[in-house]
Amino acid sequence: MTGENDPDRIEKLCVEKGMRMTDQRRVIARVLSLAHDHPDVEEVYRRAADVDSKISIATVYRTVRLFEEASILERHDFRDGRSRYEQITEEHHDHLIDLSSGRVIEFKNEEIERLQAIVARELGFDLVDHRLELYGVPLDRSKKN
Ligand SMILES: [Zn+2]
Repeated sequence: MTGENDPDRIEKLCVEKGMRMTDQRRVIARVLSLAHDHPDVEEVYRRAADVDSKISIATVYRTVRLFEEASILERHDFRDGRSRYEQITEEHHDHLIDLSSGRVIEFKNEEIERLQAIVARELGFDLVDHRLELYGVPLDRSKKN
């Protein structure tokens, strides 16, 4: 989730998982640890290149994929053709995407959580995970026309 503030969080997880950490991987890990906005690879690249201009976008792609495979990052597809990334944490949340601006808003609704479990149970399943994305436009904007 995007509420984590420890700039070393991802690097620590990588070390715990026995991953070899290069200086460039450390920079990318730090950028992602500090990201609060579900950035895509190009945005991660821009931020990482600000710290170390020798980092290539190919390295960012590889590293992000590596972190994803290690279950450190979660990939989202919010229908704009770009994969976006955020850290995986214990705390669950869902997303609302503002179609007018592309802004991603995080939320959690206990009633939705409860209803999803009921739906799964009625279908004969124990719910272990889910993803929910809402797509919307701001109310005041849709009222105008
Ligand atoms: Zn999120």
